Amino acid sequence: MMKFKGLHKVSLIDYPGKICAIVFTGGCNFRCQYCHNPELVIGDDKLPDIPEAEILSFMQKRCTSRSKLLDGLCISGGEPTIWEELPKFMKTIKGIGLLVKLDTNGTNPDMIREVIGNGSVDYIAMDIKGTPERYPQIVGQGFSLTKIQTSIELLLQNKIDYEFRTTVFPEFFTEEEAKQISKWVKGAKRYVLQKPHIEKTLNGKFHQKIRLYGEQELINLAKLLPNCIVRL
Ligand code: SF4
Repeated sequence: MMKFKGLHKVSLIDYPGKICAIVFTGGCNFRCQYCHNPELVIGDDKLPDIPEAEILSFMQKRCTSRSKLLDGLCISGGEPTIWEELPKFMKTIKGIGLLVKLDTNGTNPDMIREVIGNGSVDYIAMDIKGTPERYPQIVGQGFSLTKIQTSIELLLQNKIDYEFRTTVFPEFFTEEEAKQISKWVKGAKRYVLQKPHIEKTLNGKFHQKIRLYGEQELINLAKLLPNCIVRL
């Protein structure tokens, strides 16, 4: 049963050009050292569940025939695509008349293909953690680079709006690596470099020792990637 662990009732920044709510699902198949939502990734059982009915009721109230206070819902995590019930939930949100944005690490291309194919998603933000060689160092073991590659190819088909995005640390993302990634996602419609949040991280020691890029350095890196903007 899909686990919802958080509901953020309004955001002006999480769905480009739209006003959205955000739901956070529990659990993730990655263990990114810098993850700033560790409570959703490990130990999410300690967080109370939010019943799906409560989320649907909230979204319906924000989208009535008389007023529409939200354009859509952003589904984030954790990693939402680990839940097999996700496509059904997305379809229900679309049925209410709202846009659906999915945040994903790209490890479930079959589900991405399904929700694009049946029109249950309007926007996908897919993480690119680094170059293919960097993945094990950043996210841990036990993942399929082939699946990530397939998800990239699905988005590059341009059937829906999307962005690739990277949370950037000098330790994992150099100029040379930006150029390499640029070839990996050649033709991408939109790429976003994100400044990290490092108040807390999954690897508890990570944020104590890490250097961050400055604003100008991020802007310089963005010039190396296709249609890239910096999100500070
Ligand atoms: S950063 Fe995203 S993909 Fe990585 S562990 Fe956290 S929730 Fe999972």
